[in-house]
Amino acid sequence: MTAQILDGKAFSARIRDRVAAHVARLRSEHDLVPGLAVVLVGEDPASQVYVRSKHRQTVEAGMASFEHRLPDDTTEADLLNLVHQLNNDPQVHGILVQLPLPVHMNASAVIDAISPDKDVDGFHVSNVGLLGTGQNSMVPCTPLGCLLMLREHLGDMSGLNAVVLGRSNIVGKPMAQLLLNENCTVTIAHSRTRDLPEVLRRADILVAAVGRPRMVQGDWIKPGATVIDVGINRIPEGEKTRLVGDVDFDAANEVAGAITPVPGGVGPMTIACLLANTVTACCRTNGLPLPEGLTV
Ligand code: NDP
Repeated sequence: MTAQILDGKAFSARIRDRVAAHVARLRSEHDLVPGLAVVLVGEDPASQVYVRSKHRQTVEAGMASFEHRLPDDTTEADLLNLVHQLNNDPQVHGILVQLPLPVHMNASAVIDAISPDKDVDGFHVSNVGLLGTGQNSMVPCTPLGCLLMLREHLGDMSGLNAVVLGRSNIVGKPMAQLLLNENCTVTIAHSRTRDLPEVLRRADILVAAVGRPRMVQGDWIKPGATVIDVGINRIPEGEKTRLVGDVDFDAANEVAGAITPVPGGVGPMTIACLLANTVTACCRTNGLPLPEGLTV
């Protein structure tokens, strides 16, 4: 038997529809237009693609999009000034500073200058602390997307063994925290983990966020497990390149109960969750009920 494919493209379209419906209600009932400001410093080609995509999807959802493109040699002080302006701008409900920043800037200082209420990436230390203590917070977009997919597929996850492979601040750690909040028994594996295949074989839910193409083998997966592959790795194929995940998809597909493909799994969920977080931020700021199915 092959695994059920968890279609992130279709699910993210449903999330964007929910966002757009909520935005339409905010506009008509409260005269409010959720606004997202995205700041890009420098010319990194991948970041330019992400920022374009974020702008397009924000506008398509009926929200206001404010783009700020700054040259590579912008000083940290100038960037912090812009962040302060956006913090004080009532039309802006969400602020995202596209990473990576140029090396002369201290990314933590910039992220922590963003008002926690507008920190739609969920990277501010206050939001990390709120998530860690099980309180309402802005949740980082990629783990939020993974969790929404898991909830949709599994419903109640209470008591399940979840293994998160990777312990980065943007994916692994918040993902583990979210699964803990869902009452899973959570293990975080990383580069120093001993007997990794054996640890992974215990997972009813496996989230791979390691950045190593097809590292997770079929026989590392518990039969029937739900596998979420966060990895986005570009590998050469003949004259061209192709995207693969951190999981050997063909092998895992024979063992897992359900699996996200790459591309078309977690990837499309990330921007959809950025839009969802912007609506959540707008509602919180204005003391309005949060949109259903878009938060945790
Ligand atoms: P990082 O490089 O920040 O973290 C990778 C983690 O994997 C680290 O914790 C590292 O362990 C661990 N690791 C590395 N090698 C091994 C190994 N051989 N065995 C066990 N663990 C290992 O990556 P990110 O979390 O930022 O990203 C992970 C992947 O997810 C990447 O492919 C990235 O492109 C993708 N991604 C996708 C997104 C999306 O929208 N779908 C968004 C963000 C990321 P240690 O801490 O010990 O070094």
